Amino acid sequence: MNGPLVPFRQLVLKVHSRCDLACDHCYVYEHQDQSWRIRPKVMSRETVAWTAMRLAEHAKTHGLDEFRVVLHGGEPLLAGPERLREMARTLRDGLSGVCDLDLRIHTNGVLLDEAFCRVFAEEGVLVGVSVDGYAEAHDRHRRYADGRGSYRQVVRAIGLLRTAPYRHLYAGLLCTIDLANDPVAVYEALVALDPPRIEFLLPHATWDHPPHRPPGSDTAYADWLLAIFARWRADGRPVPIRLFDSVISTTLGGASLTEAIGLQPSDLVVVETDGTYEQVDSLKTAYGGAPVTGFDVVHHDLDVVARHPGIAARQQGLAGLCDTCRACPVVTSCGGGLYPHRHRTGTGFANPSVFCPDLKQLITEVRQAMWPEAAAGYRPEPTLSARPRHGMPAAQLRELAAGFGGRDALGHLEQAQRSVRRALVAAVHDTATGLTPGADAASAQEGWDLLTQIDTDQPQAVDAVLAYPFLRVWAVHCLERLRDSRPDDTSQASDLNHLAGIAMAAAIRGGLPARLSVPVRDGFAYLPSIGRFAVPGADPGDTVTVESHPADGTFTIEAGDGTWTITSATRTLDPAGPADRGSRWQAVRHLSAPGLSVALEDTDPFRDCYGRPAVARLGEETVTGWQSQFAMAWDLIQRQHGAYAPGLAAGLTAIVPLTAGDAGREVSATARQAFGAVAAALPADHARLALLLIHEFQHVKLGAVLDMFDLFDPADRRLFQVAWRQDPRPLEGVLQGTYAHVAVTDFWRTHRHTAEGPSGHAQFAHWRAATAEAIEILAGCGSLTPLGQTFVEGMRDSVNPWLSEPVPADAESRP
Ligand code: SF4
Repeated sequence: MNGPLVPFRQLVLKVHSRCDLACDHCYVYEHQDQSWRIRPKVMSRETVAWTAMRLAEHAKTHGLDEFRVVLHGGEPLLAGPERLREMARTLRDGLSGVCDLDLRIHTNGVLLDEAFCRVFAEEGVLVGVSVDGYAEAHDRHRRYADGRGSYRQVVRAIGLLRTAPYRHLYAGLLCTIDLANDPVAVYEALVALDPPRIEFLLPHATWDHPPHRPPGSDTAYADWLLAIFARWRADGRPVPIRLFDSVISTTLGGASLTEAIGLQPSDLVVVETDGTYEQVDSLKTAYGGAPVTGFDVVHHDLDVVARHPGIAARQQGLAGLCDTCRACPVVTSCGGGLYPHRHRTGTGFANPSVFCPDLKQLITEVRQAMWPEAAAGYRPEPTLSARPRHGMPAAQLRELAAGFGGRDALGHLEQAQRSVRRALVAAVHDTATGLTPGADAASAQEGWDLLTQIDTDQPQAVDAVLAYPFLRVWAVHCLERLRDSRPDDTSQASDLNHLAGIAMAAAIRGGLPARLSVPVRDGFAYLPSIGRFAVPGADPGDTVTVESHPADGTFTIEAGDGTWTITSATRTLDPAGPADRGSRWQAVRHLSAPGLSVALEDTDPFRDCYGRPAVARLGEETVTGWQSQFAMAWDLIQRQHGAYAPGLAAGLTAIVPLTAGDAGREVSATARQAFGAVAAALPADHARLALLLIHEFQHVKLGAVLDMFDLFDPADRRLFQVAWRQDPRPLEGVLQGTYAHVAVTDFWRTHRHTAEGPSGHAQFAHWRAATAEAIEILAGCGSLTPLGQTFVEGMRDSVNPWLSEPVPADAESRP
């Protein structure tokens, strides 16, 4: 088998080959392969030591920074707590100084008690538990040999894992699907166990032994899962469900999150209790001996195993699939399903999954529901490595709900935004390929190639550019245009070719050598987050050539009328450049204050996304005015409104100057797609700027929360009247406005004592009443998800105590 070797990153260690349950759907004991009968019951100390040595060797050879080991069985707890402790230590010692060890155990839970939990806490072993839903569902299959169900014992064990000393060990629940069980009741029962993650597993089956289906139903498994999907969304996606998250991730160009679906090369190997290496365990379902490799830990290193034809076959992505799958419109998310499910006597694994109709329907419906803008076209490779769906600890979500949120909470929001931006940029590339004639989008393709190369060598450089707020605005703009474009429409090429400027900006920021043609649009060549270069008289389709020079930190721009050198330190033109240098290069300038530096963005072509015109390039005098007011505003925020400072310092990256309002009316805005940016006309004084920043940044935070969690039912189209708008608002508008006015109220609550006199008290009185009223509108609307209710309760907990704070007698009645 040719092609580069894909190193293993996960190993399943069969520490005990017997089980204390006799589940009738178990692939180890109840399917074709019966090899467990001849294996030792418990893995020997020598075998564990050899395994640890092989892991360290493999990690060193391939420069791995982490290896995941799952202690498995049979039932691994049968090995006993002290033996498991020894195994954990042997593995950890073996990898010490080589790479991190992500150590887990996967158990049926029935034996799990304090003694095991103490060992796992001391040795850092995370615990995943198999449970199939509610009692009747679980006990349908997961029984003792005498027929007794095991649900009660499993729930007791999970209860122990949920207690304070062990909660951090609780890795999640695995549930095998049975159509006889009510899907929503199964979901509810699992969610009630408060897991950090749920994984639904299709029952093991092959074309020779197909899954049970009701007569006449091709898609019963998809229907079962889609019932859960609908409920999960209605609940606000309260817990990650790996199967759904994987479809979402792969749809957006990201990685698969599970072996069960996707084109990700398999990186998992199994070591049996006798030290033999085997392929993925579930192959036992196909035929006797299917997982055998003929290798063992004493005589063979893991590179030898990785070259085994059976393992290499699971690493070929699209090329390893049958013709039917290769032509399938959902293949990037499905990948032909779980490898063993493709088996048929005669054709081996060169078949679609025996669950093919289910997978097709499930993936299609999840895609359409979650990301219609990205569901236009799919290509498997190459892609930016999007990260899996992000969660957030409950404490930080509560912080945000109360109206605040520090560095950690903002860090979670930023990470999730980064994944969205990566996925959207990948979706632009994937959707554009094949829709746009190549020559017109040549810069886009070169940009993509450079970006994926930088992402491999220095992903932080790509992240630094993708963190710029207007990247997502550009990507969504492109996707919307591409979705509506005809195959012969080349007019969007200049939008797509912006990718070249993005890639060059990443190369310059990462200090990497690169040279690329960057398009000129509307008279400028753009390097997002760095600046723009004026090209007077340029025609549509014109380009400049940008080259980075890491040795001296400069980059050059070759235009038709000369070559320009820009120094990296100040991003200004080299004084030795052409005579009109002052008007050609326009760097992004920054407003700075102690602990904070924010771009004053007046160059990016996609900054104009606020429904009010962004101003043209600012003169130096105006920039000085912004700087002066910004420094004073930040000082005020730190001194008087310190609860908002950490969030702003962590998340505010750009301010876009807008045109001023009529008659001095204040103007400010945010855009859902531009996380980290606030737009405004320069207000009358620094206190107004401080208020504006605090107010608008609430919208930035809540927009990012809404990207991660569903807080309300989007099907609710009702409009609601709130005090701060003449026109009635949809539910999301009410939520956004209320969240912003929690902070506005809080601002006046403090500021009234230090300035503004009576009008400050009146502002406080007015906004607390208006905000409290809006909170009750939200709380009573009936369309909040459980997470949405928690969020609104957080706002209420902040505002309610303010209602009883004294104000001067006339403040309530002042306009
Ligand atoms: S849905 Fe069916 S045809 Fe498409 S990739 Fe999956 S198994 Fe293959």
